[in-house]
Amino acid sequence: MRGTVEFRNVTFKYEKAEKNILTDISFTARPGETTAIIGSTGSGKSTIINLILRFYDVTGGAVLMDGTDITEIKRKDLRKQFGMVLQDTWLFNGTIMENIRYGRLDATDDEVIEAAKSAYADYFIRGLPGGYNMEINEEASNISQGQMQLLTIARAILASPHILVLDEATSSVDTRTEVYIQKAMKKMMRNKTSFIIAHRLSTIKDADLILVLKEGDIVEKGTHQEL
Ligand code: ATP
Ligand code: MG
Repeated sequence: MRGTVEFRNVTFKYEKAEKNILTDISFTARPGETTAIIGSTGSGKSTIINLILRFYDVTGGAVLMDGTDITEIKRKDLRKQFGMVLQDTWLFNGTIMENIRYGRLDATDDEVIEAAKSAYADYFIRGLPGGYNMEINEEASNISQGQMQLLTIARAILASPHILVLDEATSSVDTRTEVYIQKAMKKMMRNKTSFIIAHRLSTIKDADLILVLKEGDIVEKGTHQEL
């Protein structure tokens, strides 16, 4: 199965920064596993994600994807393997159908609807005026935050990437939507390599590997039981 990501003694410094942001970080994330990244603000969580996606190149050590140093993979080919569900869910002006289809542009209407069902989004979409053809405005002020998240999850399910990067939302959504989001995420993560910047204890508990960052060092590494 594809999707193994290895950090091998990774050290990283932003170009203009004085000191290392990450120092000698090593871990392996495998398909079917969830790696939760936790730590206080500024500890380096997003930086790890930036390196995996090669928005920056490591200063020392290497990031490997299925055994290949990612500097040897074209950025475009690398990023094709990723699906992202970020805090600021990214929707554009267009119908709900178009927004989900963005995950895979050649998908048929039926495939889009399948993905929405899988993401528990179909039920609320059908309740909206216009259903799948409802226009979302840029601020997406006409749907709730939780619904927005379900739409981006549907989009990621449709894209079916090997690796998922999730920046768990901290915003409060109603309990029912929350349950759907959790269930949809679980389903989406099955058989994939998942990285979650985690805020919820329930996510952390279920993770296969937890990285606890402090000022760019992994201060603890293991499962919830081990820590
Ligand atoms: P948060 O929980 O607030 O999202 P984080 O753990 O994701 O924090 P990072 O964004 O990885 O933290 O930042 C780690 C450190 O790197 C911080 O000290 C931050 O100021 C610094 N940093 C982040 N991005 C850059 C950049 N583009 N240039 C220089 N320094 C940066
Ligand atoms: Mg961050």
